[in-house]
Amino acid sequence: MNRVILRYVFCLAVCVFANHATHAKSKLQMVFRLDDCYLDSDSATKKILRLFIKHNIAVNVGMIPCNPQLFLQAQHPDTLYFHSQIEIIMHGYRHKKITEGEFKNIPYWLMRQKVRAGTDTLNEYGIYPLCFAPPWNAYDKRTLELLRENGLYMISANEFGDRSNSDMLYLPATCYSVQDAIDQINGKHYFGGVLVLLIHPYQINTQSDLLLLEKLLLLIKNKNIETLRFTEFVKRKQNISAERMKLHHQPLIYGLRKLQIMGFNQRIYYDYLVVYIINLIEWMILIIILVLFHIKFCVTKSYYTTYIVGIVLLLGVMIIIPKREDSYRWALLYKTSIIALFIWVNNLLQLRKKSIPKQAR
Ligand SMILES: [Zn+2]
Repeated sequence: MNRVILRYVFCLAVCVFANHATHAKSKLQMVFRLDDCYLDSDSATKKILRLFIKHNIAVNVGMIPCNPQLFLQAQHPDTLYFHSQIEIIMHGYRHKKITEGEFKNIPYWLMRQKVRAGTDTLNEYGIYPLCFAPPWNAYDKRTLELLRENGLYMISANEFGDRSNSDMLYLPATCYSVQDAIDQINGKHYFGGVLVLLIHPYQINTQSDLLLLEKLLLLIKNKNIETLRFTEFVKRKQNISAERMKLHHQPLIYGLRKLQIMGFNQRIYYDYLVVYIINLIEWMILIIILVLFHIKFCVTKSYYTTYIVGIVLLLGVMIIIPKREDSYRWALLYKTSIIALFIWVNNLLQLRKKSIPKQAR
């Protein structure tokens, strides 16, 4: 028994060491998403963009292709948008709410029309977006299919959207105010990840708002934090797969981020390796707890070996499998029932082995 525990402790130590070794030098990265911009930018948007250019910091502009007020005037896009530090991403089509947003639970033909019209409009002006940010962060499975069909391979919504399409890349917003971003950067960071800040021009329209934004940009420069455009993640081959987003919803990382333990917090989108290792540690902790529980309470009880228990466990796993990505609670239930099923099978085999010599006698 002691050997088993020692083995688990050794595995945990290896994981912690591997994490430290690979992330000792890792820095926090930062992504700015400035939503609700139009091709013919207003003065608030211009001021914000000039601030980013002045401090040499990358920004992703969420462009609404169709401005309902100026639709017929065929405006030319602001030349500021073609600066090398700026990446234009598509932010919906008209930014008009239909159901829960502009792109969620609407008829398929309408969604297809909107995606095509949006990319066509931007293409006309020499803008070829590769990333899509849905208005109100609302989208569904079909949106992902349509984006992929139209050459958009990356989506930035929030952390709770559909992540079932493995052909897409995901970089959700995690932070929604400039002050919050300043506080997070000044906090502790032991593990690598990205802070994705989503802001809107209407949030930064007074002089004090602009000063606060400039304070953040100066802090980024002082702390030597790297700011990235969305497609740079692809060029650098940084893992922003669906798997990373799925692992972000596992119970242990969810708890660590929510309770802000060990420098984790909710505003950072942690690196794939970090969430992967925490996921492994979570499996180990659950296995240890369930095995110890089983040995202490169930080993001597014959009811645990009955087929009825096995059928119940199997049915439980089958019901939970499709829901395991919905939330951290389902993920926890899924892992627990899988381990319980394995323990039950092992228990049954052990009892069979013991009962064979008895029959032979
Ligand atoms: Zn918007």
